[in-house]
Amino acid sequence: MNLQNYTQICKELQNSSAQLVAVSKMRSVQQIKTMYEAGQRVFGENRVQELTEKQPQLPNDIQWHLIGHLQRNKVKYIAPFVSMIHSVDSWGLLEEIHKRAEKAERVIDCLLQIHIAQESSKFGLNELELNELLDKLAQNPLPHIRLVGLMGMATFTDNLDEVRLEFRYLKKLFDKTKQKYFEDNDSFKEISMGMSGDYKIAIEEGSTMIRVGSLIFNQ
Ligand SMILES: *Cc1c(COP(=O)(O)O)cnc(C)c1O
Repeated sequence: MNLQNYTQICKELQNSSAQLVAVSKMRSVQQIKTMYEAGQRVFGENRVQELTEKQPQLPNDIQWHLIGHLQRNKVKYIAPFVSMIHSVDSWGLLEEIHKRAEKAERVIDCLLQIHIAQESSKFGLNELELNELLDKLAQNPLPHIRLVGLMGMATFTDNLDEVRLEFRYLKKLFDKTKQKYFEDNDSFKEISMGMSGDYKIAIEEGSTMIRVGSLIFNQ
């Protein structure tokens, strides 16, 4: 636990419009409780099994965000409580989330994950696929889904100039998408980008949600 870094980041965020998603993957329930007691309410996990194990052991007013790759057959386990899913990267996944949200009588906030990194291993949509998905959504509305923005993961590299360009690209794509598909929709406003090593750059480039783990949980 590094409450000093946590407090520092909270202070930095006061002067920006971004919020912190505390990434608690691989952290114990006790560690999350400590962060909760320091005031944090939004936590991000990247694995469904870990999330469903921890959630019942922690306070009810925590907003849980699923930030990692999500398989369709696991959606049902998180649909009853998850607050936001950052990693939607296909129409099929969106439909499944919709189905499970309807069953749970909920509307689930989702971000579309965009491929912004140089590496080919990362998940996410390219611009063409994003437009195809949104065209399809216009034809087939999913009322139990609320699309609230885009998410991206930069290349894992020390070259922060490259990372900055990738964040800048995501912000540009967000603006374009907003104009084309969500002009009258105030909910579409989130850009989830930035982690421990690059969150400052992400904020400078327009992030509204930084996903930070090691910097606040490591000693
Ligand atoms: C682990 C993880 C983070 C946080 O990474 P840190 O470098 O520990 O801050 C952010 N986003 C995703 C998708 C992750 O899996």
